[in-house]
Amino acid sequence: MVDHIYLFMGIQGSGKGTQAERLSKALSIPHISTGDIFREVINQNSPLGEELRAILNRGDLVPDELTSRMVRERLSRPDAAKGFILDGYPRTQGQVEHLDQMLAEMGRSIRAVFFFDLPEEETVARLEPRRVCTKDSSHIYHLVNKPPKQDMVCDIDGAPLKQRDDDKPEAIRKRVAEYKRETLPLLDHYRQKDLVRRIDAMQSIDAVTEEVLKIANA
Ligand code: AMP
Repeated sequence: MVDHIYLFMGIQGSGKGTQAERLSKALSIPHISTGDIFREVINQNSPLGEELRAILNRGDLVPDELTSRMVRERLSRPDAAKGFILDGYPRTQGQVEHLDQMLAEMGRSIRAVFFFDLPEEETVARLEPRRVCTKDSSHIYHLVNKPPKQDMVCDIDGAPLKQRDDDKPEAIRKRVAEYKRETLPLLDHYRQKDLVRRIDAMQSIDAVTEEVLKIANA
């Protein structure tokens, strides 16, 4: 049986979250986004949540140990048994090493690393108009390309929409700089293993999905 383990890498706004949702549905495997995991903890208003809120609002990275611990817990759940999509993890060299170690312990391996390649200047244009559901941040809208039916209300659960603090221009620039410094070089690790599949993220959403599905089902 194929173990459908995929990493989704790409600059903020490259559409990886949207594509991860689609692949998740197509293969019935969980879409695991570390950003979403952190935002869930923040919504619970615990001391840890407050700490995470401050880190995310600054556009900084959450420490590796904490991030990897949360991923390890998530991967151990039964729904990840036949595969999973990791979106937004690993993001640092330390996390690459943690992930390699976790997978080795589980006797599992990555099937492909999708690299959603988008020019840097596109990111602010794409992220600024993004709005997310306050109840479930995987419900994502775009004021121009994918507006909700009712102004600032989620189509799926009727909760209000909001702009993520880290989608404000200053935080976006910081995240892009961090991505280029920390995350982009990580692709080399996976290139050496011949796992990287580059996708042109300027294509339409449907064209990207088609390409992703073709590779996953190959
Ligand atoms: P995202 O939704 O992937 O854009 O992530 C939002 C924020 O969550 C990031 O700007 C970081 O502050 C934090 N975050 C998400 N994934 C990671 C990760 N793998 N390592 C450290 N911080 C992360």
